[in-house]
Amino acid sequence: ISVFVSGATGYIAQQTISLLLSKGYNVVGSVRSVAKGENLKELYGSKFQYEVVPVLEKQGAFDEALQKHPEVTVFLHTASPVTFTVEDNERDIMIPAINGTKFALESIAKVSPQISRVVYTSSLAAMATFDEVRDPNYDGGEDSYSPISYEQGKLDTVSAYVASKTLAEQAGWDFVKTHKPKFTLSVVHPAYVFGPQAKDEEASGTLNYTSEIVSSVFRLSKDDMVPHEAGHFADVRDVAKAHVLAFEKDEAKNKRILVNTENFSSQLILNIIRKHFPELKERLPVGNPEMLGLSHLAHLKERKSRELLGFEHISLEESVVDSIKQLIRVSH
Ligand code: NDP
Repeated sequence: ISVFVSGATGYIAQQTISLLLSKGYNVVGSVRSVAKGENLKELYGSKFQYEVVPVLEKQGAFDEALQKHPEVTVFLHTASPVTFTVEDNERDIMIPAINGTKFALESIAKVSPQISRVVYTSSLAAMATFDEVRDPNYDGGEDSYSPISYEQGKLDTVSAYVASKTLAEQAGWDFVKTHKPKFTLSVVHPAYVFGPQAKDEEASGTLNYTSEIVSSVFRLSKDDMVPHEAGHFADVRDVAKAHVLAFEKDEAKNKRILVNTENFSSQLILNIIRKHFPELKERLPVGNPEMLGLSHLAHLKERKSRELLGFEHISLEESVVDSIKQLIRVSH
């Protein structure tokens, strides 16, 4: 079985590709340049092929790549901007995410009638807004939708990201309802994703946005303030598993699957690092180890998603330890 993964260079995508290859699938990844594709080929070997799709937000963007691969029967759409430093919220975040998803589905329906399963990587952000996930009385979760409009999305980069993931998901369900394609859609909604990069080669320099939350704590010096990041966490290897189960399982057809494990804060991440890496204690700040800063976070409804996934999630502690081990390995 051959699986197409858009945005193959991505953090979540690479862990998903690793898992797919280890399970015996062939993978075709889309990348934005030949150089990025060649790098991945070197890392993942002969069962990985790539196609260059330079621009997501263009009608027919995936036509040529899909035409070359009639063997592909599963499409995972992970490519989407995850950045909060852009010039234009609409142009740089919302349009590639929303139109990119719509056009990818159009290409699949038109060019690849043999594709039977499509998985879109949405986000917790499409289920609840940043304010809702920071409200301890919020009682939504896996069945909720972020109440954000396109116009609100344009206001600031955080809103643009929330709108991009919410409206791209909506575009996906609308497409399926209107066009009744031969594929079924499943949507994965990860919380903040931490955990190691699939390959050590990809673990130096500036990492993807969410991995930087952990590595920025690792890089703190004794007198630095501990950042105030807090939210909901899932390990990247569990998110990869969710993508695979989302197309392997019949029960996952037409489902929205929340992948959320436990709440995190920068202080909690620091406590874990200090506990497991005594050699770093001298260099790192202490912060306020008792004040975890978690009490304002929502407890999300996620029973159906947990049942569907059916595996035990990797804890924040294990995730942080594995990330830090990797950061130490690559810094030598
Ligand atoms: P990365 O930044 O590591 O990966 C993003 C991927 O999308 C890269 O392959 C990137 O390509 C590609 N991409 C970004 N912008 C564009 C664009 N304008 N046109 C074409 N391709 C683009 O992020 P993650 O792995 O963390 O994210 C992957 C997916 O998971 C995204 O859809 C994201 O919204 C979602 N997600 C992530 C969460 C997290 O905590 N990390 C949480 C919930 C959802 P290139 O390498 O060329 O830049």
